[in-house]
Amino acid sequence: MKLNIILMGPPGAGKGTLAKRLIAKYNIPHISTGDMFRDAIKAGTKLGSLAKDYMARGDLVPDEVTIGIVNERLSKDDCSHGYLLDGFPRTIKQAEALKELTTNLKREVNLVINIIAEEDELIKRISGRRVCKSCGAPYHVVNMRPKKEGICDQCGGVLYQRPDDNEEALKVRLNHYYKDTKPLLDYYKKSGILADVNGMLGADSVLSLASKFIDEDN
Ligand code: AMP
Repeated sequence: MKLNIILMGPPGAGKGTLAKRLIAKYNIPHISTGDMFRDAIKAGTKLGSLAKDYMARGDLVPDEVTIGIVNERLSKDDCSHGYLLDGFPRTIKQAEALKELTTNLKREVNLVINIIAEEDELIKRISGRRVCKSCGAPYHVVNMRPKKEGICDQCGGVLYQRPDDNEEALKVRLNHYYKDTKPLLDYYKKSGILADVNGMLGADSVLSLASKFIDEDN
C-alpha cells in the first residue's frame, strides 16, 4: 500500500482530529511538526526554547529548523511503510526540501489530503478548542465536550487551551496560511496528488471521505 500522505488545511480545519483517526486506521506514524515543537517546549530542550516565541505569536518557526527535524524523523525505519505528515510542509521551501528528501529515501508523497473549511467556522473552532496535555486529544467547549469537565475521556489527562489559540495569534496564523501555505495547493495540484475534503462535515464523514481517497489510490 502507498501511504505516504500529507494532511493540509488552515488552522482549525480538523487536521489533528482526522490525523488521529487515520493513523489508527492505517497504522502509520503521525508526524506533526506542531506536536514535535510542543513536546520540545515541554521537555525544555534547545529546540523548544527556539520555537517557543514564534509559536506564541503564531509565526512560523524558521524553515531550516523545521526542515531539519522532519528530515530526521522521516528517515527513521518506522516510516518505510508510510507516514502521515500533519502541519508540514507550510512553505514552498519546505515542500521543495521534502521532495528532495523523499526522493532520496524512495518515500515519495503519493497523496495530499486538503481539508477545506470556512473562516468563520475556523475561528469558532479555534477559540473553543481544548487539548489534552498528556495525549493531545482534541475537544471543544461546545461541539466536542469531554464526559467530565476539563478531563480527557481517553487518558484522564488535564485539558488546556493552547497558548496560540487566542484571537491575536490566530490572525497571524491565518495570514501565514493564506500567504505561505495555500500556494502549496497549486504545487500539489499540478502533480495530480491533491484531494479536497469538505471539513465542514462531521468528523465521521471527513474520515470516510479521506479514507476513500487513500483506498482509491491503492
Ligand atoms: P500546529 O500544531 O500545526 O497548528 O502548529 C503550531 C505552531 O507550530 C505553528 O503556528 C508554528 O508556529 C509552528 N509550526 C508547526 N509546523 C510548522 C512548520 N511546518 N513550519 C513552521 N512552523 C511550524
